[in-house]
Amino acid sequence: GRHREDLEALGFEYNGLYFDQDSFHIFAGLCAVDTPENVEAMFQALRQVGITTSRMGAYKPRTNPYSFQGHGRKCLPWLFELAGKYGIRVIAMEVTKEIHIEEIYEELERAGRPTGVMLQIGTRNAQNFELLKAVGSQQEFPVLYKRGMGITLEESLNACEYIASEGNRKIIFCLRGVKTNLGDPHRNLVDFAHVPVVKGLTRLPVCVDPTHSVGRRQQAPDGLQEIFHIAAQGVISGANAILVEFHPRPEEALCDGPQALTLEELPHFVEDMRIVREAY
Ligand code: PEP
Ligand code: MN
Repeated sequence: GRHREDLEALGFEYNGLYFDQDSFHIFAGLCAVDTPENVEAMFQALRQVGITTSRMGAYKPRTNPYSFQGHGRKCLPWLFELAGKYGIRVIAMEVTKEIHIEEIYEELERAGRPTGVMLQIGTRNAQNFELLKAVGSQQEFPVLYKRGMGITLEESLNACEYIASEGNRKIIFCLRGVKTNLGDPHRNLVDFAHVPVVKGLTRLPVCVDPTHSVGRRQQAPDGLQEIFHIAAQGVISGANAILVEFHPRPEEALCDGPQALTLEELPHFVEDMRIVREAY
């Protein structure tokens, strides 16, 4: 046994929120920042359910070079302003190169810090050691590290050491499914049974990403969304956060529309996760 005091000593605070192996947050939002109307609808829906953590990328690492690559720096001023307007305290946002950290910092400052940002390291950069050192050596922003989809768990944990050894210990470890060659029905093989494993091996809060694990919006035979089922499995396993994609009009989304849940589903999702968490 570990003691609660040990765990608490290893948690971190950011922009008024606390993260550790006992805390629970839902980072719900768009895959990518698209229009101010859609972003505002998202933040408004979050405020209605009392959630102050969101997700959405301005810099998108796409598999296909002809796909939408994200609006980049130019959307940050209005994104941060809208976040502040709806009381969003932290936006998880991917960075794919070092300069993005600076751009986010400068635009947050310029906007008067209406919100906060958690820097997301995507699965495609899970072993981009220079990027890991860059997010590790800045002390401003916490980091949401997404497990590499095709490397060992040990290698992903080692990547987190790159961040921590540079001085930044504000890290959340995110499971998001892994690739197999077994013809999985889902986008990735869901790896949420590893939540307690990572919590045992490290003192990091552990997040699950049901959206990129499942990769499709589809009802299970019982009528519930598969993404709800899988997210609940993560919560049962002890997840400290959920990263999940929603969109006011999934069919119009510029990125990952087919896996986005709708805003009508948001209150049900939040309520279900709270019930499951209380039950376990
Ligand atoms: C994302 O969160 O939108 C994303 C691209 O995730 P991943 O890096 O896990 O594919
Ligand atoms: Mn996505």
